[in-house]
Amino acid sequence: MKVYNTLSGQKEEFAPQSDEVKMYVCGVTPYDDAHIGHAMSYIVFDVIKRYLQFRDYKVKYVQNVTDIDDKIIDRAGKLGIPPAELAEKYTTSYFEDMDALNIERADKYPKATEEIPKIIEVIQGLIDKGYAYPAGGSVYFRVRNDPDYGKLAHRSLDSMMAGECAVGGEEKEDPMDFALWKASKPGEPYWESPWGEGRPGWHIECSAMSLKYLGETLDIHGGGQDLVFPHHENEIAQSESFTGVKPFVKYWLHNGLVQLGEDKMSKSLGNLITIKQALAKYSPDAMRIFILSSHYRSPLKYSEEGLEAAERGAERLLRVALRDDTTGGKGKALDAEPYRQQFIEAMDDDFNTSKALAVLFDLANAINQAGDHGLGFKDAQELFTNLACDVIGLRLRRDVIIKVPTARLTITTYAPTVYIGVQPTEEVEVRVDRLVEERVKCRQEKNWQRADEIRKKLAELGIILEDTPQGTKRVWRRAPSVETLDKLMKELGL
Ligand SMILES: [Zn+2]
Repeated sequence: MKVYNTLSGQKEEFAPQSDEVKMYVCGVTPYDDAHIGHAMSYIVFDVIKRYLQFRDYKVKYVQNVTDIDDKIIDRAGKLGIPPAELAEKYTTSYFEDMDALNIERADKYPKATEEIPKIIEVIQGLIDKGYAYPAGGSVYFRVRNDPDYGKLAHRSLDSMMAGECAVGGEEKEDPMDFALWKASKPGEPYWESPWGEGRPGWHIECSAMSLKYLGETLDIHGGGQDLVFPHHENEIAQSESFTGVKPFVKYWLHNGLVQLGEDKMSKSLGNLITIKQALAKYSPDAMRIFILSSHYRSPLKYSEEGLEAAERGAERLLRVALRDDTTGGKGKALDAEPYRQQFIEAMDDDFNTSKALAVLFDLANAINQAGDHGLGFKDAQELFTNLACDVIGLRLRRDVIIKVPTARLTITTYAPTVYIGVQPTEEVEVRVDRLVEERVKCRQEKNWQRADEIRKKLAELGIILEDTPQGTKRVWRRAPSVETLDKLMKELGL
């Protein structure tokens, strides 16, 4: 298995320290809802973890929660609530999003505020060894004492100095030095320390927590490409200086960033799409397919067309998962082994999920063809579900409900209604019933144009109508709002 290591700038043979892979991924700062950039990063590392497990490694996965930070203090101040309350609220929101996206939980989510003693221990050790110094109630890392500084970002200290990163500070010995401990301002949350009241810097948190929960050397450290410098560079400087053990991390893996149009999706540009907003329109399976369709190291262009296509792809895969092999195990069957090998080949090559997904779709087509020609496909289908669900992390599940005629329907229908990961409210369903009913009436009156218009409009809203001998079948891919449906009904004069 080969993985691309940011540190060497090359693909390297993957050789963890033991068969238990120690994996650390930088977590969130919970001050607002998580966005598509978070979805991409955590889905990518979820699939990497799932694939390692598929290849019979054990994985110990740790992800921190930066529950105290300038951003949390600022936003809590604006909202007039305690920082801890804000952090708690958005930590809960984060886990809701991760669960919705079928991202498996890490083994441990240490919180900065609960790890202060370990953080202080590491900072004190760095001071004792001459790598850090207290100044004005804060503590800074002495970058000039670390000859390796810049090895991950592949930049020299002097080129960084010339760049935008050198922020001056009177207390610092050198503009490039960064804070390990920050003295608290009046009214801010603080913890006691040998250097006075304050709170930990962001970078030291990851060094202290990874050391505490995974040890001196990690096999995989992950994060977005925007964390390479300065965050991960600083993590290396702190960890290797404190333990004296090199390397701190065997393989540094970084995912590409999400773009909206030509711009990076970011809070400062105001072009964020939250995971909750995206999930109101698209299924979790579609989001995973969309994100994993491009290489994890490449930038991902967010697009509605791309997500629509992924949604159709998810439905195609779902049909294959639900298809029945009617041969009863007799006669010739589809050989799935070549697909398994191709899938592994793709994933072994630096987790090439876009190729692996292409193999999965090829296998889906082969299963359909086998079924159409009376060939058995039970084993192939089992492999298909294994790869799609256990590795790619799709749910491939839908709730099929056979609707019985209700009082609110004048035209009875026994056709099934299919909900793909959505649960429309009663209010929404009543309106859709009314629209379907109107369409049936138009068809009976041979007003094909209006019938078609209703079908098209509903399809745009995520409700696909299929005419069956039992009546009109509805496939709900998402649930529109009451307001949207009211607007549509008004347009149609209903
Ligand atoms: Zn980190």
